[in-house]
Amino acid sequence: MICDICGQEGANIRHVTRSYGKKTNLLIIENVPVISCPHCRDSYLTADTLHEIERIKLHRKSFAKKHPIPVAAFRDISTKHQDVLIG
Ligand SMILES: [Zn+2]
Repeated sequence: MICDICGQEGANIRHVTRSYGKKTNLLIIENVPVISCPHCRDSYLTADTLHEIERIKLHRKSFAKKHPIPVAAFRDISTKHQDVLIG
């Protein structure tokens, strides 16, 4: 896929585990798709991904499994739309 940062072909999607918040408010989200580019070595989340993360955070109690640390699995969504870029 084409990198939205530098415009070159060759960007890849990686799925990573990310953590948000800290200590008692910690939320871990698994399988978050991150676009990474071998050319400019930048990585970013798509607008859809960011939106989904916000939704998971808002509904963390229902998304998170019963676990000492809340863990939510990211829903595998389409990454076709990449209008907004946030590093
Ligand atoms: Zn790039």
